[in-house]
Parts: sequence; C-alpha cells; structure tokens
Amino acid sequence: GKPLNVLLAEDNRINQALVVMMLENFGHHVVVANNGEEVLALLEKEPADIILMDVQMPRMDGIEATKAIRNKEQGTSTHIPIIAITANAMAGDREIFLNAGMDEYISKPIGEGVLYEMLEGISDSAAEGPHPDAQLEQGAPPTLEQAP
Ligand code: MN
Repeated sequence: GKPLNVLLAEDNRINQALVVMMLENFGHHVVVANNGEEVLALLEKEPADIILMDVQMPRMDGIEATKAIRNKEQGTSTHIPIIAITANAMAGDREIFLNAGMDEYISKPIGEGVLYEMLEGISDSAAEGPHPDAQLEQGAPPTLEQAP
C-alpha cells in the first residue's frame, strides 16, 4: 500500500520505539504523541491518515482523546481511522472502544504481521474514498437528540 502519515499515541518509551521501528520498516511516516493532549495538539498542526491510540495514557487517555476527535469531526466528512492499542483486552472491551469512536483494536504485544495487515486495510479503504459512515450521516434526517 501507499505510505501513510501515522500518528502513534503511546506513553511507554519502549513500545514507542518498537512500533516506530515497525512502521518505518513498512515505509510509513510516523509522528509520536505521549498522551491524548499531545494527539489533539498535533492534529491541529497536521492531519494524520491513521491514529494508533494506546488506551491507557496519563493526562488524557485514548478513550477521551478519541471522543474529542470524533466530536470535532461532527458535521464534516472527515473520519480519521483510530486503532486502539491495548494490553489485557477483556471481553466487552471491544464494545467500549467502538462506542468511543475507535474503528478497531490490536492487543499488546503488537505483532508485526497484525500491524502490517491493519495498515494495509486502512490504506486500501482510504483509496476508495470517504468513510461510508460520513455519507450516511450527511443524508440522514436529524435525530431526536439534535432536535430542539
Ligand atoms: Mn499506556
């Protein structure tokens, strides 16, 4: 697939280094954030093709950061793919991640093959155009929540 601008959010230095190495080996460009606040600040400066988001981070965790990003995307056709990175995924966690607005998740320790496949899938779907949800939302009638 084509090279992607990947935003990696991870507070653990060793995991940062490992994932950056893998991503650069695949030919992607990587920017690192140490917490959710840094993710939001970096996105103000330059857009990312995909965000790899550690769930547990200090100051602002991956769930909060994802909710903030999805809030900002409301009413636009933008949908940055967000992949949760998590240790000890439990039954029901996937539901929590998806409800927060994440698109998928991968478990630590991150396998190179799993990461590669995930990013290939993202760059393929990015080539197909806007996220399908974006089109649905544009044409959808207002929901009860939006009504005055
Ligand atoms: Mn962490």
